[in-house]
Amino acid sequence: MKKYHILLYYCYTPIENPEQFRYEHHLFCLKHDILGRIIVSKEGLNGTVSGLKEQCEIYRQTLLADPRFASIDFKIEEHDTHAFQKLHVRVKPEIVHVDLPHINPNQKTGIHLEPAEFKNLKDADDVVLLDVRSDYEHKVGKFKNAITLDIENFRDFPEKVDELTHLKDKKIITYCTGGIKCEKASAFLLEKGFKNVYQLHGGIIKYGLEEGGEDFEGKCYVFDNRITVDVNRVNPKVISRCYVCSTESDRMVNCANPECNNHIPICEKCGWEMEGACSPACQIHPEKRVYDGTGYYAKQLNGYNPYKGLQRTKPSQ
Ligand SMILES: [Zn+2]
Ligand SMILES: [Zn+2]
Repeated sequence: MKKYHILLYYCYTPIENPEQFRYEHHLFCLKHDILGRIIVSKEGLNGTVSGLKEQCEIYRQTLLADPRFASIDFKIEEHDTHAFQKLHVRVKPEIVHVDLPHINPNQKTGIHLEPAEFKNLKDADDVVLLDVRSDYEHKVGKFKNAITLDIENFRDFPEKVDELTHLKDKKIITYCTGGIKCEKASAFLLEKGFKNVYQLHGGIIKYGLEEGGEDFEGKCYVFDNRITVDVNRVNPKVISRCYVCSTESDRMVNCANPECNNHIPICEKCGWEMEGACSPACQIHPEKRVYDGTGYYAKQLNGYNPYKGLQRTKPSQ
């Protein structure tokens, strides 16, 4: 019986005083031993947090009781431990950085498809699935036949849309990890003259939870200690290959050389043989970290204090 929950959520809703909200929300998280990453903005709230199930439930119910957040659709996953080591509650101009602050998804966005609707529509002839995530994410997993973009960061999405003009007459369904990126990405496509734009509501994670993740190939990249998760219980498949020996592998690691820190799949065998390094040069690097078989290196906590970040003199917006 797993004792922890991981909550993934977002909400586009006006928040009048983000700094004030951030302060109170940080204190609220501390009180309930909630860890994770939360972004507060004038345009809304975005978070991935972990905590004991009971505490996560209090967190969830408290947000839902606030009229501003009553419509939040939480994705809830189970876990053995916290999925984060720290708590960050930050104020930013956008809840996902894409430099499209003028877009308000509450006024304009692609049509939301629930996971079951998505499942029925995704294979139709005139449908194109568009993965709006970054390279390192779709390389380890994506929907079968999806179009991917060569982008390192979501803020590179807008300029890539020009490469998609040949799809203007198709039904486009955008998808991402939890649905948040699609809110603005699909709105931007509409703004650019695409007519039939849909989005997978709740993203890959909700589709996995509710529909078994059929036709999602590989693993889904996530932004916590788990690094990747399985979402497909129907027809799973590995699509990535070991960076060293090219056999099929979806074991995402960071290169043990901290200066390289290359984030790549390396198979179990190569992991041990290379001591967690991605190349012979990295293997003999003097700073190389000790490989423990996971390829995950916790950031130094450096006396991390959960109250850190609570008081800030200068608002960061
Ligand atoms: Zn290998
Ligand atoms: Zn390396």
